[in-house]
Amino acid sequence: MKIKEKQKTYGRTKGCERCGRKRGLIRRYGLHICRQCFREKAEEMEFKKYS
Ligand SMILES: [Zn+2]
Repeated sequence: MKIKEKQKTYGRTKGCERCGRKRGLIRRYGLHICRQCFREKAEEMEFKKYS
């Protein structure tokens, strides 16, 4: 039996929370996401702000 716990290991700083990438990680605002996802998230947040 093999149990994969590759994804959804939240709480640890393994990589990006969204895509699991380790490159360009931003650990700001309590987030652990890469630059790309940060940008996406920022846009989402902006949208929420103005909607
Ligand atoms: Zn990412």
